[in-house]
Formats: sequence, structure tokens, C-alpha cells
Amino acid sequence: MTLQEIIDGSDNIVFFGGAGVSTESGIPDFRSVDGLYNQKYDYPPETILSHTFFIDKTEEFYKFYRDKLIVKNVQPNKAHTALAKLEKKGKLKAVITQNIDGLHQLAGSKNALELHGSTLRNYCMDCGKFYDVDYIASNTGVPKCECGGIVKPDVVLYEEMLNDDTISKSVKFISEADTLIIGGTSLNVYPAAGFINYFGGRYMVIINKASTPADKQAKLVINEPIGEVLGKLKI
Ligand SMILES: [Zn+2]
Repeated sequence: MTLQEIIDGSDNIVFFGGAGVSTESGIPDFRSVDGLYNQKYDYPPETILSHTFFIDKTEEFYKFYRDKLIVKNVQPNKAHTALAKLEKKGKLKAVITQNIDGLHQLAGSKNALELHGSTLRNYCMDCGKFYDVDYIASNTGVPKCECGGIVKPDVVLYEEMLNDDTISKSVKFISEADTLIIGGTSLNVYPAAGFINYFGGRYMVIINKASTPADKQAKLVINEPIGEVLGKLKI
């Protein structure tokens, strides 16, 4: 069966995606060879992007965060657009993403579950007041709330728990789906691999440039860039 045939025959599709979905928008994959993990900083990105580091060395955290994680002037690509279209047609029920760039919503997706949060949302750690990404980007040093509290990105850092509500919603959508499309993720990183085990529907499709540990479980594996693949669909 082709991807087009699977999509034409399904009205309960769930998409599970990772960094590869945004690389075609020019956002570097954290874990790719050219990605963040191989760039020169005093500490490895896993250390800088941890809860402990945020608390202990907030200013250094923000130096890295502004430099590497806030990506300006990026646009959704064909993958984001195709998924938003599928949702609008009533065929796709949820996008579950590990990305923190907000591009699914920008493309028009209404039900995007962000497992790792979003750089677009930031909150005062003391009073909870909301701040947008421009507030973080346009400041230097540690961004402070008008109450004096430190503003923290709504991004799940290393050592931090994922949001319970987002987890249970994601599990529910995956377990009820008829078709699960997994895209732009190597499925090597927690919790991605665990989530897809809740799928009990008919068609698991994997679209990723490299092979993944779940390839054997899938009905269809496509090793091409996801924007190109989804961009070719007739929706
Ligand atoms: Zn405050």
C-alpha cells in the first residue's frame, strides 16, 4: 500500500514527530552530526539545558538558549502544512511533537501536543505571568518579571518531568488511532520509543531519513525527507 492509499482510507490518523520535521524549515536537529551537540560551548548542551544548570547558572543558560534555541524568522514547511490540512479535513486527530518551535500551530494545526513544551511560551517562576518569545529574545541577561521573579521558558529541560496532561492525551490519541504516522524522529530518545507501543491500529507508517528501531513494526517505511513526502500527497 502507498502512503496516499493509507491516508485516503483512514479518518483517525495521529502524527508523532521529532526534530526531522523542522529541519526542512532550517531548524538544526539537536542530535544530528552538525547539530547542537557538536558545537563548541563550555558545557555540553545536555548540561546547559538541564534544570540544575538553569537554577545554578541562569545567565549562562540564557546565553546559550538565546543563541541556539530561539530561532527567528522560520516558517512551517510542507510537512507542517500537509498535517494541518489533514486535520482540517477531519482525517488527522492530533499532532504529537517533540519539537519546541511552535511551527505546527503556525501552519494551522489546532490539536498539537507539545511533549517538550514551547519556546514561544515563558512564565514568571514567582507569579506565573506569561511572557512571549520576543520578551526573552529582546532582553539580555536573565529575563525578569515586573514582580522581580525570573522568567523561565515553558520548555521541558533535562531532569524535568513531562507534563502529565500532555502525556495522557498523547497516549489516548495514539491508542485510539487507526493510522499512526511517525516522522522525523530516530525513536532513540525517551519518551518517543515508549509512546508508539500504545498504538494498536491498522497502519503504522515511518517517514525518516535513517532507519529506526520500530521499522520492523511498521507497515510502511519511507526513508526520505518528510516535507517532500507529505508535500506530494493529495489532500
Ligand atoms: Zn512575576
